[in-house]
Amino acid sequence: ISQAAAAARVPPVSETETRTIFDKIIAKEIPSTVVYEDDAVLAFRDISPQAPVHVLVIPKSRDGLTELGKAGKRHEEILGRLLHAAKMVAEKEGILEGFRVVINSGPSACQSVYHLHLHVLGGRQMKWPPG
Ligand code: IMP
Repeated sequence: ISQAAAAARVPPVSETETRTIFDKIIAKEIPSTVVYEDDAVLAFRDISPQAPVHVLVIPKSRDGLTELGKAGKRHEEILGRLLHAAKMVAEKEGILEGFRVVINSGPSACQSVYHLHLHVLGGRQMKWPPG
């Protein structure tokens, strides 16, 4: 594989952003179980599921969205697409009757991967309040 082809497969990352495990998943450098995909969004099963259905929905291009707290006006479209993709995942997984969408933003929310992601959880009775 040529250098140019290798570069084309990897999403651009600005100098201020660190490459995360999700970039490797997008680039197919590490395997994932894809549940839904379109031109802007990728959804795949969480490696450590907290419910019978636990899928992560991420933008293919991070574009500064390391966390929801960094969102700006320019991210409005992708944020809407991520929420719609979460609904598509719930439909595909057969949990439209009841499911939860979670975004952990920042250290106090226990975010561990700094590439914005929605958790889609379902397949069991969820509790409230969350921990
Ligand atoms: P956060 O804590 O909200 O940042 O969620 C990060 C999620 O990514 C956790 O639920 C992890 O289990 C999940 N995760 C980390 N590495 C992988 C992976 O390689 N494949 C799938 N999910 C992962």
